[in-house]
Amino acid sequence: MQLNKYRTVLWLSGAMIVALFVLFQNIWKVSETQNLKIYYRPFSYAEKHLAQAQTSYENSFVAAEQFLSKINKTPKVKVYLYDNLKNKGFAKVEKREVHFRYGKVFRLTSVHEFLHIFLYELNPNVPLRFEEGVCRIREGKSKKFKGQIYQILYYQLVKLTSSDRWVVEEVFQNKYKDDDEGNIAAAFALFAMQSLGEKTFWTMYQELDQKNWQQLLGKYFGKSIDAINVEFNHYVNQIPDPPEAFKYKFSPKTAYLHQ
Ligand SMILES: [Zn+2]
Repeated sequence: MQLNKYRTVLWLSGAMIVALFVLFQNIWKVSETQNLKIYYRPFSYAEKHLAQAQTSYENSFVAAEQFLSKINKTPKVKVYLYDNLKNKGFAKVEKREVHFRYGKVFRLTSVHEFLHIFLYELNPNVPLRFEEGVCRIREGKSKKFKGQIYQILYYQLVKLTSSDRWVVEEVFQNKYKDDDEGNIAAAFALFAMQSLGEKTFWTMYQELDQKNWQQLLGKYFGKSIDAINVEFNHYVNQIPDPPEAFKYKFSPKTAYLHQ
């Protein structure tokens, strides 16, 4: 009987320690920088490398600020850091939150998610895929392939999609699901920015919505949708082909190539 009591007490204390540990792990600690509130878990990689995280995300914030015509600086953007996060990174634009994986093996510090917040604030009615394209204009990735490292900007990957998709109808859609769509949109956003000039591009951006885009493209480019599509097609054709490394999507079968 006495032994059973001890067992119960032991079991209860064990369970309490586990519960407290779980609770403690779910606490967010906060650190403020000039433009950001950085949230991280106790004992996480981010806590151990906090100064580095603060610098990286302040740099991303400043890069976003330099790219856009204007941004709201307050309230401070909240940056949530996780040792593990399935999607690597995402933004909750209405809450001014960005969520990133920031662990030992992989850390995402891209400007991309910050841009989603500021672009949403600049104009929440822009078709989603075009917004995604603008976020990708200056973004790229690197890839190891047959022992070498290759770097590329995302818009260049438009060359790996079928040429009948290099049209505005593919860009101004309010749904977005894969990288090909984002890369076509990035190529168009860059084409539009270079054709119209940055100032006019942002003026147009602020007026866009899901219904007026054809009319606005006509007004700002000063030509028909068909003529814009012909020009866009020429523009994409002169973008250099991406290195062979990017023609292979990663799969277990091709894993040996990506080393
Ligand atoms: Zn995005």
